[in-house]
Amino acid sequence: MTTQNPVFIPGPTNIPDELRRVMDFATIDHRSSSFVEMFKPALDGIKRILKTETAESLIFPSTGTGAWEAAITNTLSPGDKVLIGCWGMFSHRWIDMCQRHGLEVIVVKAEWGKGVPLDEYAAILSGDTDGEIKAVMVTHNETATGVVSNIGAVREIIDGAKHPALLLVDGVSSIASMDFRMDDWKVDIAIAGSQKGFMLPAGLAILGVSQKAIAAMEAAKLPRVFFDFRDMLNANASGGFPYTPPLQLIRGLNHAIGMLEEEGLDNVFARHHRLAQGVREAVTAWGMKLCAQSPELNSDTVSAILVPEGFDSNELVTHAADKYAVAFGVGLGEVAGKVFRIGHLGMLSDVMICAGLSAVEMAMLDLNYPIQSGAGVAAAQEYFRKNIISTSSNEQRAA
Ligand SMILES: *Cc1c(COP(=O)(O)O)cnc(C)c1O
Repeated sequence: MTTQNPVFIPGPTNIPDELRRVMDFATIDHRSSSFVEMFKPALDGIKRILKTETAESLIFPSTGTGAWEAAITNTLSPGDKVLIGCWGMFSHRWIDMCQRHGLEVIVVKAEWGKGVPLDEYAAILSGDTDGEIKAVMVTHNETATGVVSNIGAVREIIDGAKHPALLLVDGVSSIASMDFRMDDWKVDIAIAGSQKGFMLPAGLAILGVSQKAIAAMEAAKLPRVFFDFRDMLNANASGGFPYTPPLQLIRGLNHAIGMLEEEGLDNVFARHHRLAQGVREAVTAWGMKLCAQSPELNSDTVSAILVPEGFDSNELVTHAADKYAVAFGVGLGEVAGKVFRIGHLGMLSDVMICAGLSAVEMAMLDLNYPIQSGAGVAAAQEYFRKNIISTSSNEQRAA
């Protein structure tokens, strides 16, 4: 059986056909003006997506993890203190990366299912009167638990404590799908990857770097070569790259940004909210709960759903893949076996979400979950029918 079902994992996401097509082209010389013409708009486009007019945008051939390594090594020195909260798999990975780089990590743990512990951040930062903490790191959208944290509130706490630390934010699973305001929140480094909201294959580390972070770069002593911002900024100044650029992905990125802007960023965010809400209605109809512990923590790009006591969520995900050829996300780390995840970011529509919910319902029924056949799909249908957003593409389709 051949299938081309959409994936419902929180990255890599579904690649629109038109994006695949624009990436299918013959090699061009990356030292030619054709490359400059392709590259400059991509760098400018990233700034618009990040909502920054003051930061620099950078692209490295890598992934989100590489973007983190670049952020750390370009702004910090061995032994520097950094403050990181841990409430899921991804925040946990950044702690590990900082420790392996010889940084002194102050770890603030929160329950998986909660977001950034603002009070503890506030206490630690206001107690650090000598400004020993050099960076505060936050995962905007914790993809393991489907929890979004309030970055604006973190900024208020840093400013409230009059603390000079840099604010580094992992937006890999939020940027280009959920509201992100680099300048308003005074984010010093924003981190994204190509394979989530940008709807591309993995392969690009995408960063926004504030002027304050660029100033820190000069003093930073951690070793870096491939990810050295200085080499990248120097080369970019004349439209070039310090080594061979991933041409296909860069053209793809340009086109992806064009697609996002044609839809309108606010419409993109509204669509993600709507798709997420459809999924949440289904979860309620199944009598289940999200891992996210309160509504303001609900992510619009991924839902981590707690399965009933006595069921193994990994078995559900495996069964859906084996029998129906549909991919959902497994539970990671502390919530392995307890949650399965529906990724609802990137190129997805109401119809695709209904199909995904239907597939997971079939899998749950096969495994004797205590749900009523069709209940989740019906709840999502009701929500979608009553909450039509008239986007230009909807109008085109109807015409
Ligand atoms: C997907 C994801 C990453 C992973 O980065 P890759 O190196 O591109 O796999 C990092 N952080 C978050 C929050 C993510 O969702």
